[in-house]
Amino acid sequence: MNYDQIFQAAIDRLHNEGRYRVFIDILRNKGAYPNARCFAGHNGEQPITVWCSNDYLGMGQHPDVVAAMEEALHSVGAGAGGTRNIAGNTHYHVDLETELADLHGKEAALLFTSGYISNEATLATIAKILPDCVIFSDALNHASMIAGIKNSGAEKKVFRHNDLAHLEELLAETDDARPKLIAFESVYSMDGDIAPIEAICDLADKYNALTYLDEVHAVGMYGARGGGIAERENLMQRLTVIEGTLGKAFGVMGGYVAASKTIIDVVRSYAPGFIFTTSLSPVLVAGALASVRHLKQSQIERDSHQERAATLKHMLREAGLPVLPSVSHIVPVAVGDPIRAKKMSDILLMEYGIYVQPINYPTVPRGTERLRFTPGPHHTDAMMVHLRDALVEIWSRLELKKVA
Ligand SMILES: *Cc1c(COP(=O)(O)O)cnc(C)c1O
Repeated sequence: MNYDQIFQAAIDRLHNEGRYRVFIDILRNKGAYPNARCFAGHNGEQPITVWCSNDYLGMGQHPDVVAAMEEALHSVGAGAGGTRNIAGNTHYHVDLETELADLHGKEAALLFTSGYISNEATLATIAKILPDCVIFSDALNHASMIAGIKNSGAEKKVFRHNDLAHLEELLAETDDARPKLIAFESVYSMDGDIAPIEAICDLADKYNALTYLDEVHAVGMYGARGGGIAERENLMQRLTVIEGTLGKAFGVMGGYVAASKTIIDVVRSYAPGFIFTTSLSPVLVAGALASVRHLKQSQIERDSHQERAATLKHMLREAGLPVLPSVSHIVPVAVGDPIRAKKMSDILLMEYGIYVQPINYPTVPRGTERLRFTPGPHHTDAMMVHLRDALVEIWSRLELKKVA
């Protein structure tokens, strides 16, 4: 048995398909983001503009967030020092959970070390506790939800993306007596489309199902206080569980779920991914707390974010670039094959100082490879013009199709 050969063959497959992942080595400049420094080239440090970060609002450099983290570090030191159950339950954690429960209009919330783990741990635990549970899962759900559903051992029925008729068909064919859970997202981050949340809640009522909504790409950014699409559409009270991250628009790190006291108590008490791991550093929690509090009362970032996204979409469309029909802040531009997506990203970085990561399978289906831009409040008009001109030049250099 040649173990090494087997591992090498796995890597070779990725190279052959053009989807071997190269991580770009960068440092963001605090106070000047999306400007950053890149260490990927041969000539040392190169200034770049970041166009693909999920720090959508630039909260990772917000003075309140940075100050709160400095203060926490100097006040209580670096790490939590334990699991939540054993010495790692700091007052910062308790405060942030209260703040998050309030954000989503729920009785309680629970923190995890990432959004990925919050999905995995919560879905696995809830569906395991409910005897003979069936999970109805949107076809484009994030890998972390799929992992949680799989680890629950529950039966899974996948409905076509945002397809209410298909979801209803699957609900209707399932035994009335079995517990049911519908798991879906609000903003789907690769296409930028939004789920019909109200209609899914109506189906949940009709078939007596629970609902689990991942608002990772919406928290902080939508709703009057940053509670997400469910807040914007006044639906938060209709959802059983709302899940979010502190690592994207909130600009720090960590994940959470918000739900009833009983459900949170169950997850807290039964989920291995919550129990058997050191709790988030209080420094991170303090930063997230400042960020959540700021975005609850400040609308400027959200307004500016929407304006910037609309402006970039318009600009790229006017230039004949194939912007996919996103109804959110995500600006996906279709390329259609992994080799060219990677090549474009390389040219943008090396020749134009524009950093956008190619998005390939399995993140998106094969043949729908794309560049995914995430403009935010700190991307200027001049940066957008530079980006557009670069894309137009590369589009003709690589002889890609434009749209009329
Ligand atoms: C990024 C992401 C997660 C995971 O959140 P992290 O905090 O980055 O672990 C969960 N769900 C969706 C839809 C995501 O895009």
